[in-house]
Amino acid sequence: MALGMLKAAPAHAYNLEGKGNGKRVIILGAGLAGMTCAYELTKLGYNCTVLEARERTGGRCWSIRNGSKHGELDKPAVTASFDEGLYFNAGPSRIPHHHQLTLHYCKELGVPIQVYNNVNESAYYYAEGKGPLSNKKIRNREVHNDIRGYMTEMMAKTMDHGNLDAGLTKEDAEKVIEYLMAEGGLDIDKLYKASARRGYLESPGAGNRPGKIADPNKLADLIHSGLMDPDFYNVAEYTYELQMTMFQALGGMDQIAKALEKKVAPMLKMSAEVTAITNLPEGVKITYKDAKGEQVINGDMCICTLPLPVLSNVNNNFSPEVSKAIDFISYNQTGKIGLQFKRRFWEEDENIYGGITHTNNDLTQIFYPSYDYLSKKGILIGYYNFNEKAERVGELSFTDREKLALQKGRLIHPQYDQEFERSFSVSWHKTKYNQGGWAVYSNTTRKDYYPALLKPDKNVYFAGEHLTYLNAWMAGAFESARSVVASLHGRVTEARVAYPDTNVKG
Ligand SMILES: Cc1cc2nc3c(=O)[nH]c(=O)nc-3n(C[C@H](O)[C@H](O)[C@H](O)COP(=O)(O)OP(=O)(O)OC[C@H]3O[C@@H](n4cnc5c(N)ncnc54)[C@H](O)[C@@H]3O)c2cc1C
Repeated sequence: MALGMLKAAPAHAYNLEGKGNGKRVIILGAGLAGMTCAYELTKLGYNCTVLEARERTGGRCWSIRNGSKHGELDKPAVTASFDEGLYFNAGPSRIPHHHQLTLHYCKELGVPIQVYNNVNESAYYYAEGKGPLSNKKIRNREVHNDIRGYMTEMMAKTMDHGNLDAGLTKEDAEKVIEYLMAEGGLDIDKLYKASARRGYLESPGAGNRPGKIADPNKLADLIHSGLMDPDFYNVAEYTYELQMTMFQALGGMDQIAKALEKKVAPMLKMSAEVTAITNLPEGVKITYKDAKGEQVINGDMCICTLPLPVLSNVNNNFSPEVSKAIDFISYNQTGKIGLQFKRRFWEEDENIYGGITHTNNDLTQIFYPSYDYLSKKGILIGYYNFNEKAERVGELSFTDREKLALQKGRLIHPQYDQEFERSFSVSWHKTKYNQGGWAVYSNTTRKDYYPALLKPDKNVYFAGEHLTYLNAWMAGAFESARSVVASLHGRVTEARVAYPDTNVKG
């Protein structure tokens, strides 16, 4: 390669050797994992059938637009009535730049992507409570720079007194102090004072308008208002997956699912709810319900991508080890609401283009749309919450969720009152064919239960985001699909598997 005589392998080569010779594989679920399995296996000459309970493909990879339908376990279905062209992603909305397999499939399937603006210092923190800075919106840049400034000031002063620099040469200690001053924006006396980093009260302009800088918030006020609480203070770049550059599929993340659907369309059986999975000595028998009643389909092998809380209620003859894993691995609660507004007031009035506002109330987060900037209308994600907050909100009716989103949201954006048009909400843990957001492992469940599902139970393989360390990411579905396809194909062909990440052998 150094001599330019050989080409480097593409980053995501998937060169499995040998042929499937028409072996029948029944794939359960037409989410990203299931459809990717069907897509890759068909390339290898397998005969695939994909059974999907819903009327649509994509599973969690779902964008809500005009006409989208959604019911929950305790709520009848409603239909979205957003304006044409507007949408929000009820499931995935961001692709990290290092999720190369997700990006690979976007490229291979011809799905155009655009940058997703995940980080916006102009968005807000809003802390409900009794502190001096509570119940008002504060720009992220003020909170981040104030806290960074005060912390570096403390360290620089302490270093100066010789307490922190033991073990450093005098020159090195000076370098550290210089760094702290630059990092925190400290003045020549190593004090944190107002600076342009945290924004202006009056913006600079022409003539005699130098701009007016606001005083920083007091450190004690930040502390007493909960803005430094570890479960609230949030710098996206500190999280590997949330570091820019992030991407999204142009026109909605469901474009990825739709592109896969096109590739596997002849194999799909829609509105086919799997009710039983039976390992037979020489294959599998799958029982499902469709409009005509109970049906049975036999295959040589099966790949099951059903989320575990759903699978837990499907009849089967799995081994006790596998059954236990299915029952004991937990999923989180999570929900989102899309709010359509007549006017993009967050852009027009507040200079917010994409990014996230964080609250400590049940909203948790407001996401501003990262597409169609400067256009007329837009959909905000009015809350995106998790766990107890998502559970509380999920209990509410669709109407009461909207009320809550508006009531709490207008504290930050009073424009809600004038500009709101309509909403649509999804609680994933209340959604029949998911019953959870994504798998959440403890050290114990990862160690005691996860390994059982990485191996096939006789002729049934398991795939999906839950069978990876990439939980809550589409990349998990893709990686898992490839891993299982390689494993199944390795067993069929008894060939060496040319997929480097595969530690699963049938
Ligand atoms: C709120 C939320 C936000 C997310 N954000 C991101 C993000 O920003 N970026 C990112 O990359 N990922 C994100 N994800 C994760 C991503 O959506 C998932 O990891 C991925 O879509 C999972 O794909 P899957 O095929 O494993 O499962 P699923 O998509 O759940 O597919 C399972 C399929 O099985 C079907 N099914 C269920 N029961 C039956 C049955 N009995 N019979 C037949 N079929 C059945 C379902 O209908 C579904 O189609 C998010 C997920 C959620 C919920």
